[in-house]
Amino acid sequence: MSRIDSLPPLREVIAAHGLSAKKALGQNFLLDLNLTAKIARQAGDLSQCDVLEIGPGPGGLTRGLLAEGARRVLAVEKDERCLPALEQIARAYPGRLEVLAGDALTLDPLVHLASPIRVAANLPYNIGTELLVRWLTPQVWPPFWQSLTLMFQREVAERIVAQPGSKSYGRLAVLAQWRCDARIVMTLPPEAFTPPPKISSAVVHLAALPAPRYPADSAVLQRVVAAAFNQRRKMLRSALKGLSPDIEEVLRAAGLAPTDRAEQVPLEGFCALARELTD
Ligand code: SAM
Repeated sequence: MSRIDSLPPLREVIAAHGLSAKKALGQNFLLDLNLTAKIARQAGDLSQCDVLEIGPGPGGLTRGLLAEGARRVLAVEKDERCLPALEQIARAYPGRLEVLAGDALTLDPLVHLASPIRVAANLPYNIGTELLVRWLTPQVWPPFWQSLTLMFQREVAERIVAQPGSKSYGRLAVLAQWRCDARIVMTLPPEAFTPPPKISSAVVHLAALPAPRYPADSAVLQRVVAAAFNQRRKMLRSALKGLSPDIEEVLRAAGLAPTDRAEQVPLEGFCALARELTD
């Protein structure tokens, strides 16, 4: 296996620091540095960017991001066992890697970052969707980040890029595609990871649009989409009846049939409905 920097191979790093994978922390590590460099390249030109990485673990993707020329990387890691390995990388790339020890769900990394910012991560599966939804639903748009390049379980990646009419189409597709261009840029078999997870994974690249595709209030749209897909097999008139006493009228005013089901409604339809429900 060829290497992309002068640091020890990741298997040695893991052995030296006793980094046996913990399931509770979603630890499935990428040890092939050619692969992590390839993932880093999917994030685009990083030379003028700060990169936020969640869950660097032993630092495979971190090393890819730095070797591919990221201006700076801020890596947020919950598992303290990984910190010495990350310090070693920081020494090899002076002034370019800052490690923040703690929980990505509670820390605010923004004070440590300078624009423009891109996010790149092999996310812990148990918090991946929650982080994505937070990044997609800030009060103001455009968000703090220009792009997100994120590894998910393949099934989650497919939900992000899904089109109306497909089984994967739901809340994630609407929220992602409303304000981003979203594409799957790589798929990876279980064997790419140590230990291998049960299922395949995929890297999704989301580029923030300068403005949402269609006007809508973010909080109202989130409420509409949550209600519609909570009961995805029901007709909209019953799935959404809690949102307005005149829901049939509201649906018609938004150009939707009360008998439609959430799965068939395009992004534009959900935005029109959110506008009708905004006073
Ligand atoms: N980036 C490494 C790689 O690709 O080999 C590790 C990826 S592993 C799928 C997920 C990483 O996220 C682990 O290192 C884990 O300790 C870390 N992690 C889990 N929960 C976290 C949290 N709440 N905040 C920050 N890091 C977390």
